[in-house]
Amino acid sequence: MDKELKNNCSNSVRMLLIVDRPANAPAVEIMLKSAVPESFEILTVSGVTAGVEALAAGNIEVGILYASLNDEITLKKFRRLRDRAPEMPLLALTDSMNEGSAIQMIKEGAEDVLLKEHFNRETVTSAVCFAIERKRLKESLRKTTEDLKRSVNDLKRANKKIIERQKSVIEEERLKVILMMAGATAHEIKQPLTAILGNIELMKMFEKIPPELERYISEIKGAGNKINEIVSSVHEVYDGENSAHVRDLPPVRFDRQINILSVEDSDQDFETIQISLSDHEGIRLKRALNFIEALNILKKDCIDVVLMDYLLPDGNGLDFMKNIRTTGNDVPVIVVTGQGDEIIASRFIKEGAFDYFPKNRLSERSLSRSIANTLEKARLKKEVVHAQRRLADLSIKDELTQLYNRRFFMETLEREIARAGRFKTELVLCMMDLDHFKNVNDTYGHPAGDFVLARVGKMLGKCIRLGDYSGRYGGEEFAVLLPNTSLEKARAVCERFREMVAGYRFKFHSHDIRLTISIGVANFKGFSDQSAEGMVAVADNALYKAKHLGRNRVNKAAVK
Ligand code: GH3
Ligand code: MG
Ligand code: MG
Ligand code: MG
Repeated sequence: MDKELKNNCSNSVRMLLIVDRPANAPAVEIMLKSAVPESFEILTVSGVTAGVEALAAGNIEVGILYASLNDEITLKKFRRLRDRAPEMPLLALTDSMNEGSAIQMIKEGAEDVLLKEHFNRETVTSAVCFAIERKRLKESLRKTTEDLKRSVNDLKRANKKIIERQKSVIEEERLKVILMMAGATAHEIKQPLTAILGNIELMKMFEKIPPELERYISEIKGAGNKINEIVSSVHEVYDGENSAHVRDLPPVRFDRQINILSVEDSDQDFETIQISLSDHEGIRLKRALNFIEALNILKKDCIDVVLMDYLLPDGNGLDFMKNIRTTGNDVPVIVVTGQGDEIIASRFIKEGAFDYFPKNRLSERSLSRSIANTLEKARLKKEVVHAQRRLADLSIKDELTQLYNRRFFMETLEREIARAGRFKTELVLCMMDLDHFKNVNDTYGHPAGDFVLARVGKMLGKCIRLGDYSGRYGGEEFAVLLPNTSLEKARAVCERFREMVAGYRFKFHSHDIRLTISIGVANFKGFSDQSAEGMVAVADNALYKAKHLGRNRVNKAAVK
């Protein structure tokens, strides 16, 4: 018997033998005893009812049903036993049973059906041990499945939480912006309103106000007071909502190091900021006392967020914002102002600040939340800029070669022709076509052809100067535009490139691909109608001749 199986089967297995009739019990028990190791214990009962009771009493590892009657009755007995003890591994031991019934019994859950004629030590012991082992496996499978189900549920719950959390952050942001705008508007309305109400008071001091006017004035005053009430209630809502909302949210955790620069001249305020952020291990806080110092730190260090005091010894925050933006630094800025500076805050937001914070609300939770939101906003903003850039690139660049596409190249050519005409400068156009490129596709496959085209594009891009333009004019045709360049110089550039291509080994998988390029060169003076198409035609003609002359060469257009 399988050694491993024997190991899995402990030394003392407790078996329950259920015989169909009491009279059969002694003989069957002796037979079973002789077929298993001595250490296996056998408890014998007669009848299914007694069997079920014994199984329920516990301690039994495997049940063996002995049946000497016809198959139908044996099957019925087996089903009863199985239904009452569904977890118990059950074997059947029978004098004789037809194959169909034995298979049926196994289909219905019996671990094995042992025929009396095959009754020997090997068969019975391994059947018992297999039955126990299978039960153990089933049990562990059930446990694993349960664990899995639990993990899936945990994941689902966590996912739901994340979504709710995201929603609440978005809602918080939205609310914040609305309230901030409402606060700023309310503040702005308040000043002219105070002036109106004050002027009405002054008007009333005049004695000769006609009675009709008196009525209008009092109506204006009533309306003014009403507006005043509304403005005040907006202020109240703003203050209340803002703090209540932040209070209810869970604390923020940062999962990486965040470098923060606090631009703050007041020691006391800096200390408050320091204390607010002291619980966050990931936060490294730097301080600058003034703008000059802040700009220097920004130049040198990698700062994730700037917390900026509005009034500093060497200027105000708006100037600072404008200043850092002109240096191309787009570090997110959170403005920290004195109490109630909503107008200043709204100006800052317009100028690109990510958030604003009144100093009296610098609690641990609200500041770290603002930093977390700011980082997220900055990340999203970067993504948007990146996507926009890609879109812009896509519309002027050829995907495969990363050179300008034909449309953009032709637009550029038109522009450069007009300029060369106006300023009487030189301009050269080179049309290039890979030689027998069809062979590359035919021999190595289209992907190999694409690879070669991309590589040639890269080589071409590197070969030209900064002010030159290279484009993919068609399938395997390239074009280069060289402003302020003489025909001779351009020819030399093309010659160099031609040599580079001819000497290059394009390694695609196991292939070593070689090929050459033909180039036609035309200059501004060489064509008459001064259209982009006209110049292309002249250069193309020169290219055609290069092909005709044997390819792998640079050919100048004949100067008229
Ligand atoms: P010639 O020296 O006369 O220019 O011969 P050629 O084989 O280069 O010229 P032809 O115009 O007969 O074939 C150009 C080939 O370039 C055919 C076309 O399948 C292949 N081609 C064009 N665009 C692409 C592309 O984007 N990828 C690939 N792999 N092949 C391309
Ligand atoms: Mg200050
Ligand atoms: Mg071609
Ligand atoms: Mg070709």
